[in-house]
Amino acid sequence: MELKPARVFEQFAKINQIPRPSKHEEKMIEFLKEFGKSHNLETKVDKTGNVLITKSATKGMENAPTIILQSHIDMVCDKLVDVDFDFYNDPIQTYVDGEWLTAKGTTLGADDGIGVAYELAILDSDDIEHGKIECLFTVDEETGLTGAFGLEPNWLTGKYLINLDSEDEGQIFVSCAGGVTTDNLFKYKREEAPAGYFFMEASVKGFIGGHSGDDINKKRANAIKVLGRFLYMEQSKMDLRLVEWNSGKMDNAIPRDGKVLFAVPAAEKENVMADWNIFTKGIEEEYHVSDPNGVFSIESKELAQ
Ligand SMILES: [Zn+2]
Repeated sequence: MELKPARVFEQFAKINQIPRPSKHEEKMIEFLKEFGKSHNLETKVDKTGNVLITKSATKGMENAPTIILQSHIDMVCDKLVDVDFDFYNDPIQTYVDGEWLTAKGTTLGADDGIGVAYELAILDSDDIEHGKIECLFTVDEETGLTGAFGLEPNWLTGKYLINLDSEDEGQIFVSCAGGVTTDNLFKYKREEAPAGYFFMEASVKGFIGGHSGDDINKKRANAIKVLGRFLYMEQSKMDLRLVEWNSGKMDNAIPRDGKVLFAVPAAEKENVMADWNIFTKGIEEEYHVSDPNGVFSIESKELAQ
């Protein structure tokens, strides 16, 4: 069976011969240096191990903007328990299964070997029109992005980068779901709840959740936001005092559950209950959640004042 585009799979077959576990990409770096040399292309390696191969514009394309193509050269190494395989030395054994190219008992390394293969195919070609191209191959994406983090400063001259490590075929993503960890520190003063205040606990549980990057466009309810919306609404109507907030476990997961404890003037208790019922009906519709098992609950709490 002929795999297409043929010249991409020709390159992919070559790199499958080269062991490349994360943090052990030496053989792949050597291969890329050799590749650059044999193709007469300027090739650099930074101290982190990232490789940059530059190819000048084809005739008539000299004024086109420089494009950076980027992929990572390490792969996730996993195998079936009964397969005897040494990821540091053995070449990946591929075969075609139906319409899939796959590997015998091991990970295939298409993540991100296929991205690497696309870059090599373009570098290898003499019939694809392009402006100046900077092919960047980074190390160790899979275990901490240390390659990208350690990239030599001012190495690249292009302003446009196409990352060749996406998950969905036939789709191009503009920008990306980056991750930023923010630590917020603020001071607050605890105070006694005023006399005659009533404590209540509202909770949501069992939302679908998901990855904060990959699933963020799927309209999934976020427990922190849902509870925040409710408290914000109530706060504008009455003197609501927050006692305890408990939601959110991981910084890359959409929170599925949450619980808030708050106090309101005793006279507002029934209003809060009524508002909660209307509010959660709205959430059910907005996020298509059904509430057979008590996704939403609110109850009074006896607390010693
Ligand atoms: Zn990847």
